[in-house]
Amino acid sequence: MTIDEIKQADKDLIWHPFAPLINPFEYIPVKSAKGAKLFTHEGKTIIDAVSSWWVNIHGHANEQIADAIHKQALELEHVIFAGFTHEPAVRLAKNLMTILPDNYSKIFFSDNGSTSIEVALKMAFQYWYNQGAKNKRKIISLEGAYHGDTFGSMSVSGRSSFFEPFFPFLFDIETLDFPTEENFDKVVAQFDQLTSDDDCAAFIFEPLVQGAGGMRMYSPDMLQQLVAMAQSKGIICIADEVMTGWGRTGTTFACDQIEANPDITCISKGITGGALPLGITAVNSKVEAVFRSEELSKALLHGHSYTGNPMICAAANASFELFEAKECKDNIQRIHQRHQGFMEKLKTFDHVENIRLQGTIVAFDLKGFGETGYNSDARKKIYPYFLEKGVLIRPLGNVIYLLPPYVITDEELDRVYEALLEFLEEN
Ligand code: PMP
Repeated sequence: MTIDEIKQADKDLIWHPFAPLINPFEYIPVKSAKGAKLFTHEGKTIIDAVSSWWVNIHGHANEQIADAIHKQALELEHVIFAGFTHEPAVRLAKNLMTILPDNYSKIFFSDNGSTSIEVALKMAFQYWYNQGAKNKRKIISLEGAYHGDTFGSMSVSGRSSFFEPFFPFLFDIETLDFPTEENFDKVVAQFDQLTSDDDCAAFIFEPLVQGAGGMRMYSPDMLQQLVAMAQSKGIICIADEVMTGWGRTGTTFACDQIEANPDITCISKGITGGALPLGITAVNSKVEAVFRSEELSKALLHGHSYTGNPMICAAANASFELFEAKECKDNIQRIHQRHQGFMEKLKTFDHVENIRLQGTIVAFDLKGFGETGYNSDARKKIYPYFLEKGVLIRPLGNVIYLLPPYVITDEELDRVYEALLEFLEEN
């Protein structure tokens, strides 16, 4: 197809995510990609500074991952995961167990971040149901959370305007204020109050960094206290590591930075290196124990057609090997250090606020672009500005952040930093 044919057919037929059907921006046809770079049909190179929605960790078109998918596709592309199993899935489960807390005992497969949350919520509700504790229906979540786009995951997310048409269909939850140094005593009191009736099923959180909520960061100390408080009352703690997993916050999982271990961990995005979709809901033996029965009524009756797909598991195993290699850990460190240097430069701008860093994520708020938060108009100006300069940055309202693939080179990072500094000087 010619470029124009692709663009026209896209305009005519395709319903893209998170955008009005009549979009002010033209969708850019991408022909290929390598490492941190996207190559468009029109011959432009774009540095992917957001890892294509936070999924890509080892770079685009990674050969090891591509090889693993290719080999697996020729051997066993898919098989029903009810009644059958296969080596790629078993290997992945074993790999995951080496990086999850010691008391973890079971891995459940689904298709994406939202479904990994959906499964975790069903597990948490059924954990109590199986024990006859039918009053345990309350879920506590953090203000401003984003856990996905399915109904359960929307329900436990902040009530943002994104979900407004669906408000009547979402189940009620209780919300804790987002913890900060200033309000933490109040948050603790809120938590105590919300859990005083002994009706709480689970506490769900994005550990250390709220992603879509604006790359909002809070300290391991605060997270530790909240998880410990919840667990002291027997409340199931669900860590949504969909974005924070795979080294994003500096450690393999963000929860590795606290003493306590969540009962359920949701994993997705980086798990396949960004090549194929996969959701994992991993649980500890405490959760597993309540489901350990031969009775169907005690089982988690949930599954998807592509559950445990062998090609996806093979991609995840290849990505795991790359993640475990020293080169990957060094890259995470390198990006973190380079972000630190960049932060010093950011500090010289008056209209830059709340500069923050966690692992490979650096973020700041931009003043002077009207409304703050997701509804800010800032994106309309910022997004095309950077594309023009060959850098993919997608602001969250007036929050600008970088979350690059770990293979991004120093030169590419410099290019991204430079573009940002130029923007700040001009605007
Ligand atoms: N949880 C978090 C923390 C996320 O950032 C996201 C996606 N941005 C999700 C869940 C949902 O994942 P997916 O888009 O793969 O359904």
